[in-house]
Amino acid sequence: GQGLMAGKRGLIMGVANNRSIAYGIAKACANQGAELALTYQGDAFKKRVEPLAQELGAHIVGHCDVTEPETLNAVFAEVEKLWGRLDFVVHAIAFSDKEELDGRYVDTTRANFQRTMEISVFSFTDVAKRAEALMPDGGSLLTLTYYGAEKVMPHYNVMGVAKAGLEASVRYLAVDLGGKNIRVNAISAGPIKTLAASGIGDFRYILRWNEYNAPLKRTVTPEEVGDAGMYFLSDLSRGVTGEVHHVDSGYHVVGMKAVDAPDI
Ligand code: NAD
Repeated sequence: GQGLMAGKRGLIMGVANNRSIAYGIAKACANQGAELALTYQGDAFKKRVEPLAQELGAHIVGHCDVTEPETLNAVFAEVEKLWGRLDFVVHAIAFSDKEELDGRYVDTTRANFQRTMEISVFSFTDVAKRAEALMPDGGSLLTLTYYGAEKVMPHYNVMGVAKAGLEASVRYLAVDLGGKNIRVNAISAGPIKTLAASGIGDFRYILRWNEYNAPLKRTVTPEEVGDAGMYFLSDLSRGVTGEVHHVDSGYHVVGMKAVDAPDI
């Protein structure tokens, strides 16, 4: 095969539809010759993911809900049966009750806090542990985060606290797995209109605010996150681990944001 990802086999978790960030990453990897396996969450997503898998020449390795460990067991057993090993994993999974992605963080409930942490933070560690067993010669793990981990963003609330935990997980996992040449990184993506983002209150406003204030004067696309993701999953980034890399049109470097943006 040809391409920067030729001979590499990767599991991609979190494709919901053709606007998913995970799909952007999958496309970039497939274009560079990677062989892919996709999961889907429940039958509702199955029929959306199937045609995308076909287009990417990817395998489907089953239903996965990260709150049901038996489904993770089944997916990793399927990958082992298929390939016997794994070179990379993309974790593009997060969830919180829509009700709590609005209003005040202080009002978060115990139940949704726990659920948000389990799905959006613990699942990456759970996946990393399973991937380790299939990566005897090393590998690359990638997750997706957001600037709301670093700074308080309106409505991001409990998800910001979760992303802070996820970013810390990236660093701890990088140290735990570095000796096995397994690298662990995150991309901090700027806001993109996806299914998950539609749960966030006033998301259109956030998009416009970013367009106005980012150095590149626009938001980013799943394809742009995909290309950066491919770098982390390829050998181009072989010297990089524990990193949180911003793909956000430069938004995070701007200290003084405009107050009176036209059209906002
Ligand atoms: P998306 O809706 O396309 O993807 C979210 C995925 O999470 C879906 O495929 C869904 O099935 C999966 N998921 C949710 N709960 C799950 C569970 N219990 N078990 C298994 N899978 C589950 O949206 P997206 O924006 O592409 O989100 C992907 C990642 O990117 C998320 O971690 C998100 O927080 C992150 N991110 C998104 C943005 C943005 O603006 N869209 C910005 C930065 C980071």
